[in-house]
Amino acid sequence: STEGRTSLVAGYLQHIADQCADDRSGAVADYIPELAAVDPDQYGLSLCAHDGYLYSVGDTTTEFTIQSMSKPLTYAMVLGRHGSDVVDAKIGVEPSGEAFNEISVDSRRRPRNPMINAGAITAASLLLPQHREVEPGVVDEAFAELVEFYSACAGRRLTIDDEVYLSEKSTGSRNRAIAYMLDSFGVLGTDPDAALDLYFRQCSLRVTTADLAVVGVTIACGGVNPRTGRRVFSRRTAQRLLSVMTTCGMYDGAGDWVTSVGIPAKSGVGGGILGSLPGQLGIGVFSPRLDDHGNSVRGVDTYRHLSADLGLHMFNIT
Ligand code: GLU
Repeated sequence: STEGRTSLVAGYLQHIADQCADDRSGAVADYIPELAAVDPDQYGLSLCAHDGYLYSVGDTTTEFTIQSMSKPLTYAMVLGRHGSDVVDAKIGVEPSGEAFNEISVDSRRRPRNPMINAGAITAASLLLPQHREVEPGVVDEAFAELVEFYSACAGRRLTIDDEVYLSEKSTGSRNRAIAYMLDSFGVLGTDPDAALDLYFRQCSLRVTTADLAVVGVTIACGGVNPRTGRRVFSRRTAQRLLSVMTTCGMYDGAGDWVTSVGIPAKSGVGGGILGSLPGQLGIGVFSPRLDDHGNSVRGVDTYRHLSADLGLHMFNIT
């Protein structure tokens, strides 16, 4: 029965939450005060099955900022809008093996992939008019479309955390350096400050673990949100997202992640990890303390348990 299934899964999720609860290692992101101030002990876990059924345990109504988990979604938007030929000319798909904020490009002067900041800022730039004079209000318009798209993936209207946004914007020297470097290489077809502004806003959208699980299952279901029945992006785009999440999703810890967990995923410095297992399910986990790569400590642990216990590794051979 559905009830039986629900309590069985809930019991199992609680068991994982209990196993992770004692681990207080790692440190919360502190590059802006808003992230440093969160309760570090929070923990939430949600799964969404391909039939749209949602299972949650812990702090699953707590909102936190999406941060780098926004990167696959903006990439999906630009793929849908411009097609892969145009996008591939600007953003590569090779794992960089470097930190997410590394100021690096390939021999063609393209950002190496859309999951590092250079690639994500370039993706954001492709949502803006491709000329230098950006009229006032243009970023607002692009952001409204972006919120629409992200919200369709989550099945719920998402909102921005204004404090985080203003803080990101006022402290983002490194991202500004990345954007201006890309601009000097001729990668950006628009005003670099407008691209940065859009990128800072997308990173500051608030989500819950339930939202992440639904976004994950929407990718897993080839672009259709099973809770709303709405097609948000194409199957081909979904396949791309799963590919880049697999190879580049976990900062410079990607190889270890694929080997030990084997679930396409993207993490964010807010402490969230978005996961998507093709055809099967979406996963959202949140706990603020981060390891040296910038991935949530308890989040990584949770995925290890899920992968091992349920045989979720994508190369699981039965
Ligand atoms: N806003 C953050 C930055 O661009 C996001 C970092 C992340 O989640 O990896 O530095």
